[in-house]
Amino acid sequence: MIAADQPDPADSELARQIQDRLTRARQRIDQATAAADRPAGSVKLLLATKNQSADAIRCALLAGAGLIGENRVQELAAKGPALADLPHQTHFIGQLQSNKVNSALSWATCLETIDSLRLAQRVRLRCVARPVPLEVMVQVNTSGEAAKNGVDPAQAEDLACQVAELPGLRLTGFMTVGPLTDDAAQIARAYADLRQIRDRVVAAGGSLADATELSMGMSGDLEIAIAEGASIVRLGTAVFGPRQ
Ligand SMILES: *Cc1c(COP(=O)(O)O)cnc(C)c1O
Repeated sequence: MIAADQPDPADSELARQIQDRLTRARQRIDQATAAADRPAGSVKLLLATKNQSADAIRCALLAGAGLIGENRVQELAAKGPALADLPHQTHFIGQLQSNKVNSALSWATCLETIDSLRLAQRVRLRCVARPVPLEVMVQVNTSGEAAKNGVDPAQAEDLACQVAELPGLRLTGFMTVGPLTDDAAQIARAYADLRQIRDRVVAAGGSLADATELSMGMSGDLEIAIAEGASIVRLGTAVFGPRQ
């Protein structure tokens, strides 16, 4: 086991690279936040850690990152113990199979990918014994791409209302994966759609007033997402380098 304040020397090149990339990613976020006339610090950086080793993630946490996101429950469970001594929060950002809900809840404090009432109800049943409600977000398929998960935008408000009423869950906002395209206008439209869904839901008040988060934007399009109101950008390659 590696001491928390002392990465393995063999990894020091990796540690330096990750530190540098993290600094650059933060600069991009800060510049985009200022360019959008939004308050400094209003956009959180979530590290998308799929396929990354626990050592690489440790480097990022030691360099000051505090929020990570995993796509697979298997990876959550495999890396969780190796990260437990470093303070951080974990969101689940992948497709959640109902037989893996329990395992996901052992590690994640927020499930960003609720896309059906059925899944929300399954998760809720596992949350009855929790002292505090589990944070969840509704994932919306703003691109319309068949390969993407998420509820249809036309059904997103209804689903948000239903999820917010379930005891044991606290709806904190909305998540989307942007369209796979270089067309900036098309990407901006998708993110603006999510913002408008969020605005209508929050305006309904009550327990929906808390659903303010917008988790959108990745390494390639974080500037567009921040211009459209992202409060969480999910960055993988910008911090860890190209995926193997
Ligand atoms: C991999 C992933 C990201 C990060 O993508 P990059 O392009 O590497 O920044 C963000 N969100 C989700 C859901 C992902 O699976």
